[in-house]
This record gives sequence, structure tokens and C-alpha cells, in this order.
Amino acid sequence: MELHELTVKEASEKLLNKEISAKELSGALLDRAKTLDKDLHAFLAFTEERAKQDADSADAAIKQDRAMPLTGIPYAVKDNILIEGIQATAGSKILENYKATYTATSMKRLMNQLPVLIGKTNLDEFAMGSSTENSAYGPTKNPYDMSRVPGGSSGGSAAAVASGQALFAFGTDTGGSVRQPASFCGVVGFKPTYGRISRYGLIALGSSLDQLGIFAKTVEDVALIAQTVSGPDEYDSTALNKPVADYTSLLNNDVKGMRIGIPKEYFASGIDPEVEKIVKDAIKRFQDLGATVGEVSLPHTEYALATYYIILPVEVSANLSRYDGQRYGFSAPGKTLEEVYVNSRSLGFGAEPKRRIMIGTYASSAGYSDAYYKKAKLAQQLIRKDFTDAFEKFDLLITPTTPTPAFKLGEKSDPLSMYLADIFTVGLNIAGVPGISIPAGMTQSGLPVGIQLVAPHFAEEKLFTAGHAFQKSLDQKFKPTLTK
Ligand code: GLN
Repeated sequence: MELHELTVKEASEKLLNKEISAKELSGALLDRAKTLDKDLHAFLAFTEERAKQDADSADAAIKQDRAMPLTGIPYAVKDNILIEGIQATAGSKILENYKATYTATSMKRLMNQLPVLIGKTNLDEFAMGSSTENSAYGPTKNPYDMSRVPGGSSGGSAAAVASGQALFAFGTDTGGSVRQPASFCGVVGFKPTYGRISRYGLIALGSSLDQLGIFAKTVEDVALIAQTVSGPDEYDSTALNKPVADYTSLLNNDVKGMRIGIPKEYFASGIDPEVEKIVKDAIKRFQDLGATVGEVSLPHTEYALATYYIILPVEVSANLSRYDGQRYGFSAPGKTLEEVYVNSRSLGFGAEPKRRIMIGTYASSAGYSDAYYKKAKLAQQLIRKDFTDAFEKFDLLITPTTPTPAFKLGEKSDPLSMYLADIFTVGLNIAGVPGISIPAGMTQSGLPVGIQLVAPHFAEEKLFTAGHAFQKSLDQKFKPTLTK
């Protein structure tokens, strides 16, 4: 097997047995990236110098027998996550040349294990989008079909893992930005409970919805990484002080007797027949593994997308007000301070952030906030209650991650059709519950399709147990052909 095909666990075993060195492993991936990524464009920057230093530290630790499970493992980070001294553009022109002045808590926790940073990955501008086409630095392509999108907004991270340029990667998930690209690129993508992982050092999109997310080839790898980065943080009061379970030791718990609910609203019209078949087959597989399944209703599902597209833009309009051409990155000249603000924001932001700033400012302004923002916050309570009610009868829920497989670059040119790509993922962010997308099959034309598992708040171990059993029973390794 080639080095880039290894899972984190397999690579870790080889490193600890001294079959390979961290330097060889990251070198092989970076070499591969040099030719591959010209077309694919998963990365906005490679951190070669940093990778060399990281690999040296990892190799020294391995030599002295103080290696940990992630020591020497090459990883990639979405370019809206801060690592001191390294660029963080958020895919926007307004943060061109901006370098982070501190490191995200989650990344610090990870770095204690001495993994190897390969680079920063592409994303839709400020993580707004579902295809990575909104990046100010050009789109990423899908490693399974270069005429298609990798999903978004963490499309670069998903494509980096799928194409073997990193063995795991981080993204952010505010409405589906980890799970949807994971589904499109045939990798595992995990979004934790809101409050499970610190948001300190993520460039804020919607602060009440944002969470760090994790991509890897297997559920087992994701569980290990999640365990490493989860937990409370004095710099983020929303990261709750709840104990983090030892996820990896719970992976082999029994699926027998688990109760899995099928929310009927997630199988309504509009879902691609091939996707539907793959999800139905997955449900059958869970039954074969000993789970009991039953239908359940999440009656307010139809309001999820509308609710999201009020709450999110309102938070965007506040969060993005800090980019004024003064404090960060790009600045356009002007005769007065106000002109600098206007020119910098006009030239620095792309169409989607501008659209959302306008919608959000309108929906939260005096006279309109009762009709829009406050109503959306009430709808959020109903959607959240749908999930908590369902979890009185079920341990987990299963849904398609997305209604269709990866679409063509340029196919969804109007914003609304793009927003609809998140129809099955946004509900989880609104309710704050955790979810994971796991590759479950392929379409006739060779595009990966994922299933989404959903768990109650702070019960991510259930996702990992069920997901791991499912993946083992499937015994299929997806491998992109990387043809045009
Ligand atoms: N696609 C959704 C949006 O455009 C979700 C984005 C995300 O999760 N960051 O807002």
C-alpha cells in the first residue's frame, strides 16, 4: 500500500514500529501534492518549512519512545482556523496576507501530540457556501471527478484527505460544511455537539452555530482526533465543562439493541434515487448488525433552512463588521476614514458575504427583528425540541447527508439552489446536536454518497460506535481515480 493510502492508525503503527519516519511520510505526501494539487487546488498554501520542523520533532520523539498516537501524522487545516505565524485568509481577499497572531485552542491540543502540518486548505469565503466556488482564490475540484465540486465550505480539507495529500484534516461546520463535503468526497466528516470543542481561534461565521469539524478516512481515526481536541477552554465559555469520553475505547461497543430512528421528513421528494437506495441499504445493514430501526417525525424540518438563513446572516453581519480595512489584512485607500471602510469592504468582500451582511442587517434591524430574527429564534426552539423528542425513543437517527451526489462546477449559479444543498445538515447545527457523515456507497457514475448519523447532545460516542461497526461491515475503501 502506498503511504498516502494509509489511515491515521495504520500510519501511526508504521511510525511507532520505525518502518517509516515522519520525514518520509510527510515528504511523500508533499511530493504527491506538488503535481496533484495544481489541478485539484485543495490547498491555499503548503507549509513545507513548518512540515520539516514538525517531522523532525516527531522523529525525535519516536526515537526517544515518547511518541503519541498522532505523532508524525500529516494533517491539513482549513484556512479559517488560526495557527500563529501562518496565513489565515478565510478564503477572502479582505484577509489576503493576514497571518494569525495566536493559535486556536483545538490546534494547540493537537500539536501537543506532534503531528505534521502540511498546509492550509481552500474554502468558500468566510465559510459561506456549499461548493468551495465562493473562494476568492478559485475553486477546489472533486478528486472523484474534476468537473465536479468537492462540496463546501470545507471543500479543500475534504479533497485533501480524499486525494491522499493529508491523512486527516480540520474544517468548520456551521450548517453542514464538514459533513456535506465529506459526503461528496468519500471521506468521514464529523461535527461535534455545539460546546464540545473550543471555538477559540476559529474565524467566526455564526458564533451560535460554528463548530470545529474533523475529516479522516475512518470513523476510528476521527474518534481519536475528536478525543484529542475536545473539552472545556478558559478562552471559550461556550465550550462546556463536561467530561470527554474515551471515544476510542468505546468504538467496539455493541450496536445490537441500538435504536435507530429514520426521520421521515428527510426522505421526502427531491432526493436523488441513487442516494435514497444507498441510504436504505445502509439502514438494512444496521438492522443486520442488530440495531432496531423505526420511523420518527421531526415535524419542523421544513423550517430549518429558512431559520438558518435568518440566524446565520444576522450573526454574519455582526461578526464581519470587524473587517474595516484598519485592523486586518487588506485595506483600500480613501480620503476619509469612512471612505477607507467603504472601499475596503466593497473591494475586499465577495458577493456572498455582501449578500449575507445585507440580509442579516435587515433581519435584525429595529422594526424588522421581531418579524425575522426573533421568529427564527423561536423556530429554533421548535426544531431543537423535535430532536430531543426523537431521542426519547431512539439512540441515533439516520438520514442522507445530502440530497444529491457532487454537482458540477458552475451548476448552481443562483444562491437559493446552493442553499438547498444543506437541507439535511443545517437542522443539526440549529439544534446543536452532533452528526457524522460516513461513506456508504457509490453511484453508477462513480460518485461517493454518504449517510448521516445524528446523536443526542454530548453523545458523540454513539456516532463513533455505530459508525465504526458500519464501516467495518462495509469493508470498502474508496479510492478516487483523480481523472479529469
Ligand atoms: N453551506 C452553508 C452556508 O453557506 C453552511 C456553511 C458552513 O457550515 N460553514 O452557510
